[in-house]
Amino acid sequence: MSNSYFQPVSGLDLPRFAGIPTFMRLPHIQLNDPKIKDVDIGLIGVPWDSGTTNRSGARHGPRQIRDASSMIRAQNGATGVRPFESANCADLGDIAPNPADLMQTMSRITQFYNDIHSALIKPMTVGGDHLSSFPILRALGKQKPLSMIHFDSHTDLFDAYFGGTKYTHGTPFRRAIEENLLDPTKIVQIGIRGSTYDSEDRDFADSVGIKIYPIEELHARGIEQIMREACEIVGSSSTYISYDIDFVDPTFAPGTGTPEVGGPNSYEAIQVIRELKNVNIVGADLVEVSPPYDHSGNTAFLAASIIFELLCIMTTNET
Ligand code: MN
Ligand code: MN
Repeated sequence: MSNSYFQPVSGLDLPRFAGIPTFMRLPHIQLNDPKIKDVDIGLIGVPWDSGTTNRSGARHGPRQIRDASSMIRAQNGATGVRPFESANCADLGDIAPNPADLMQTMSRITQFYNDIHSALIKPMTVGGDHLSSFPILRALGKQKPLSMIHFDSHTDLFDAYFGGTKYTHGTPFRRAIEENLLDPTKIVQIGIRGSTYDSEDRDFADSVGIKIYPIEELHARGIEQIMREACEIVGSSSTYISYDIDFVDPTFAPGTGTPEVGGPNSYEAIQVIRELKNVNIVGADLVEVSPPYDHSGNTAFLAASIIFELLCIMTTNET
């Protein structure tokens, strides 16, 4: 049961357009605050896009999503879940990135998540580009490799870019497998599509036993069946959820660096999360929202809605 301190500010007490924006209007708690020991789920911003290979801008994601998340109320309309009543959730602020030093930023991220992990706080990360997931997994997967359910247009399993650069938003899960942070036989990638340079990533996935559901299969067989199979693959193992907003069709989520057409709509984007039944979620991220390409603000609002669904399923699966 959640402590009353950790309730979001109600729009009936302070209108939702007023006040300083935090994720879901939750309290902002820093690591040196004594209240940190009561936090169950920490929402963390990673305002960093130095792993981006084409259209940058995801560094502006956390701030925009904080603002858009003021639209979210306390109760899930479909499931009735009230996540903030079953777990103490808080905005833990942003990682301080060094936009000019990729390696230094990665070690800062890992250090922060090491602290979170030892405090038994489950992280709900808001990116940032998809390279952000890698230094997080270095903290969360260091004792035992994790399973992962990954929603994306892209596998992010490539070896290198630009003739040998190993750390980009197209390589995080290749690196995580090499460092034994993820168990490849318990990785499920859903929504993969679009034109590619070659099939190096898919060949690698096949060689290590990663299960890929291309978008064609998701559309043909339907969310319920695919998600049931995905949940069976990870079983009761400790599982990380990684959600790249470019999983969603660019009609609904144009504000991202590497859009691919033919994706799920915004309803399907939240429905896949509701189907993560009984998955033992140890952490999640929502990445690649790029506000400079998000002219309507709808991408950030969809991202906030997906994060809310993730919080609902994380708190439900725990109890
Ligand atoms: Mn990605
Ligand atoms: Mn992607």
